[in-house]
Amino acid sequence: MSSEGKDAQGFATLAVHAGVEPEPVTGAIMTPVFFTSTYVQPEPAKAKAFEYSRTGNPTRAALERAIAALEGGKHGLAFSSGMASIDAVLRLLSSGDHVVAGDDLYGGTYRIATKVYQRFGVSFTFANTSDAANVKKALRKETKLVWIETPSNPLLRITDIAAVAKIAREHGALSCVDNTFATPYLQRPLALGADIVTHSTTKYLGGHSDVVGGALVMNSDDLRARLAFLQNAVGGVPGPMDCFLVLRGIKTLPLRMDQHAKGAAAVAELLSRHPKVARVHFPGLPDHAGHSLAKKQMRNFGGMVSFELDGSVEDGKKLCTRTKVFSLAESLGGVESLIEHPPSMTHGSIEPAVRRAAGLADGLIRLSVGIEDPADLVADLEQALASI
Ligand SMILES: *Cc1c(COP(=O)(O)O)cnc(C)c1O
Repeated sequence: MSSEGKDAQGFATLAVHAGVEPEPVTGAIMTPVFFTSTYVQPEPAKAKAFEYSRTGNPTRAALERAIAALEGGKHGLAFSSGMASIDAVLRLLSSGDHVVAGDDLYGGTYRIATKVYQRFGVSFTFANTSDAANVKKALRKETKLVWIETPSNPLLRITDIAAVAKIAREHGALSCVDNTFATPYLQRPLALGADIVTHSTTKYLGGHSDVVGGALVMNSDDLRARLAFLQNAVGGVPGPMDCFLVLRGIKTLPLRMDQHAKGAAAVAELLSRHPKVARVHFPGLPDHAGHSLAKKQMRNFGGMVSFELDGSVEDGKKLCTRTKVFSLAESLGGVESLIEHPPSMTHGSIEPAVRRAAGLADGLIRLSVGIEDPADLVADLEQALASI
C-alpha cells in the first residue's frame, strides 16, 4: 500500500499497518528485527537498498515510515533517544544563529540549549510561547529556528501551533514542535504549518517504559536530506530491537491514549476540588488558560497532569512517596502511572531562578496518568493526600 493510500485511513488503522508489510520470504506478519551491521553488495558501491546500519536498517526504515504516516508527514527519521533527535535539529544551526524557544520545556532541551549549543555560539531566547505575540517580540534578524512544546512540560501550557509556525515562516525561520506529550493521535503539527516534528518515542509512542528512542518527521525533501546527513554523520541511531519495540508500541497508541485521557480527566477533576490542592494544570479543565485552544488544536487533552499543593514543598515531596498505584519515577507515557517532583527531578537541570520565573513552582508535582482503572487512580491520590 502506498503511503498516500494509508494517509486516507483512520488513525487506528494507520497505527497498526502504516510502514509495515508482511516479510516477503516467510510471510511473517511482524517486522523482522534485522540484527546486522552491514549488507552484502553485488558489486562495489552498488548496494541493493542498505549499505551500513548507521546509515540505514530495514527495521528502522519500517519505524521511520510508520511515524511519518502517523504524523501525516512525508519523511521520518528515527534516533537513539529524544535528545539525539533534538540534537540533530539544533545541528542545522551555525555559530551566530539565534533560536526562540518556549520557557516551559523538557529540562533536557533547556540543558542542551544552554549548556551545549550556547558554547558553540548559538543563542537562545526563552519566551512564554502560549502567547504567540511573545514569539514575535523575541525574533531577531539572526533567528533561524522557533522551538515549541505544546502541551508544555511540566505546566501543560498550550501554544497555538498554526500562529507560531506562521510567525516563523514569515521571518524565514524554521519551526519545530516537540509533539511528545500530545502524540500524532491528539495533534498533527505539520498540518498546522510546522516544518519539523520531534518526538521522544521513549514516552507514548513506545508506551511501555521499555525503550529509549527519538524521531523527527518533516515534509520538505531538502530538510530530510540535511537531517538524514546529520543522522548518519553524527550517528545517534537506534538499534533494530529498539525500533521493533517502538513499532509494537505504536500499534496500540490510540487505545492507550484514549485510556490515558480518561484517567487524566478523572484525576484532574479530583485534584481541582480537593482542599489540599492549590492549583491544577490540565488543559481539559474549563478554567485552564489554553482550554479552548486545546479543544481546537487537539483531539483530546492527553494523559499529563501537574498540580501544586496548598502546603510546603516538603508536603509535595512526601506525597510522592505515599501513592501506591502511582510509582515515584521520572519519564512519562508508559502504561503505568508515575508521580514525580519536577524541580528536583526532570527539571533539576534548570537554575531555580529561571525555573521560578517561568512559573514552575518549587512544590509542583507532575503525574503521568497510566491506563489503570481511573477509579483506582483517583482513590490512590485521595489516600495519599489524606496521609499528609
Ligand atoms: C523525554 C522527553 C524528551 C527527551 O527524550 P529522551 O528519549 O529521554 O532522550 C524530549 N522532550 C520531551 C517533551 C520529553 O518528555
